[in-house]
Amino acid sequence: MPKIELLTQETIDKIAAGEVIERPSSVVKELVENALDAGANVITVEIKDGGISFIRITDNGCGIEKDQIPLAFLRHSTSKIRSVEDLLTVSSLGFRGEALSSIAAVAQVELITKPVGALMGVRYVIEGSKEKAKEEIGAPDGTTFLIRNIFYNTPARRKFLKTAQTEGSYISGLMEHMALSHPNVAFKFIANNQTKLQTSGNGNIKEIIYHIYGRDITAALMEIHGGNEEITIHGFVGKPVVTRGNRNFENYFINGRYIKSRLISKSIEDAYKNFMMLHQYPFTVLYLEMDGQLLDVNVHPAKMELRFQNGEGVYDCLRRTLEDALYHKDLIPKVPVAE
Ligand code: ADP
Ligand code: MG
Repeated sequence: MPKIELLTQETIDKIAAGEVIERPSSVVKELVENALDAGANVITVEIKDGGISFIRITDNGCGIEKDQIPLAFLRHSTSKIRSVEDLLTVSSLGFRGEALSSIAAVAQVELITKPVGALMGVRYVIEGSKEKAKEEIGAPDGTTFLIRNIFYNTPARRKFLKTAQTEGSYISGLMEHMALSHPNVAFKFIANNQTKLQTSGNGNIKEIIYHIYGRDITAALMEIHGGNEEITIHGFVGKPVVTRGNRNFENYFINGRYIKSRLISKSIEDAYKNFMMLHQYPFTVLYLEMDGQLLDVNVHPAKMELRFQNGEGVYDCLRRTLEDALYHKDLIPKVPVAE
């Protein structure tokens, strides 16, 4: 047996980075979430080569103070929680303080940021966790992150990337979910110098559905409203004529977060059961809002899965709401929705 030794910080960082940053789309997800947490309402995402060689994300959020920048790139450094108790009430999309350190461990990162009210902005460069530059420059309010050459220093990870086209399609899907989950934010997504998606940020969900899915689906939508004391549900679902052979049309968001949940999918599919052929799935864009204390989002670093305290209640409420719409019953919730 070789001797037991402590790993170097650099190796620890690279291993930890693998948990959060799996591919270019993970970078985009983390940085867009940071922009949203920073209060931005205009966010532009630009990629080249499926994000493998180039990702640029610009926001008009609160910016980062000059002396806080190096801190932001340390592991477990966050401005969003202070203790485990805060996890019960956390409303930001991030809170683990792992994204920036992970990205900086496996890519070449350039940051330009200026808090509102600061006279000058700062340009900061960090590559493979090593600071390369920090200087004052003129910049607009907000933050721009430029990420180049993901996994340039971890060839084993780079090997597992798919083609630029496939990686780009993951980012494209992600941007659609971001736009749908934040209708009040103006998103622009540019891939290889072409604008792929642009939303106005005026809050009109149907308009966003139109941009993403086109006229036929938009013409076959039913508006949904429902809920009980614990949960409110709203959004749009397709009439049963709109179907797909996979679950890619099932979009749902809980407290502003795009998630995957077997329970929610099952509830949707059971509601549609009598209207759909086997192995066909409906179109949905559903927003579920509930007290954060009834949820546990702290399940996986990528935070796609979550746990419900009262899963059965969520299942029943959603299924009933959808069935009411599908069977053309009244669309007004029977139980007054708690404020
Ligand atoms: P987390 O989002 O979990 O706090 P991150 O590593 O993603 O951790 O970010 C670290 C910190 O950097 C954040 O808590 C926030 O204070 C700051 N930050 C990151 N991105 C931005 C941004 N676009 N605008 C303003 N502050 C940001
Ligand atoms: Mg974050």
